[in-house]
Amino acid sequence: MTNTQQTIQKCPCSPKNDYQDCCAPFHLGQFAPTVALLMRSRYSAFVLGGLGEYLLNTWLSSQREAYTAQELDKPQNYIQLQVLKSKEEGDLGEVEFKAYYLDQGLLKILHEKSAFVRENGRWVYVNGQIFKTIPKTIASQDTCPCGSGKRFKQCHALKARL
Ligand SMILES: [Zn+2]
Ligand SMILES: [Zn+2]
Repeated sequence: MTNTQQTIQKCPCSPKNDYQDCCAPFHLGQFAPTVALLMRSRYSAFVLGGLGEYLLNTWLSSQREAYTAQELDKPQNYIQLQVLKSKEEGDLGEVEFKAYYLDQGLLKILHEKSAFVRENGRWVYVNGQIFKTIPKTIASQDTCPCGSGKRFKQCHALKARL
C-alpha cells in the first residue's frame, strides 16, 4: 500500500505522528540521527512497501547481497509498533521492540532486539535477536490492538483478512 496522500497520512510507526514530519524525511534520504529513529523508519518502510531501496541502504553493507530491493518492496501487515528500549554506545546501537500483526484471527508479535552499527557516518541495521512470543486471540468487542481506540470489530477485523 503506497499511499500518495502524504499531507494527511499518519506515520505507520506511530498514530500520533504525521508521516511527513516523522519517517518521510529518512525515506527521502536524510540520515536517521539515532538508532531508535532508524528502527522506526525501517518499520514504516516495511509497512508502506515500495521502499526496498531504503531498507537495503540502511542494512549493513556486507549483508545487502542476501536481499533484493524488489523482495523488500512488499508491504508487511504490521499494525502497531512499540519501541521498548534503545541505547547507543559509540558506533554501536541496540533497539528492542515489539511489532504486532494479525494472522488468521490471532494477534502475533515480532519481539526483536536489533543491533545497529554506524557505518560511514550512517546508522545501519546489522541483525536481530528474536524472542519467543505467544499469539493472542482478540474478541470482536476488544479494543483494536492497532491503537486506534476503536473496537476490534469496527477496525482491523474489517481491514484484515482474518
Ligand atoms: Zn514514523
Ligand atoms: Zn485497528
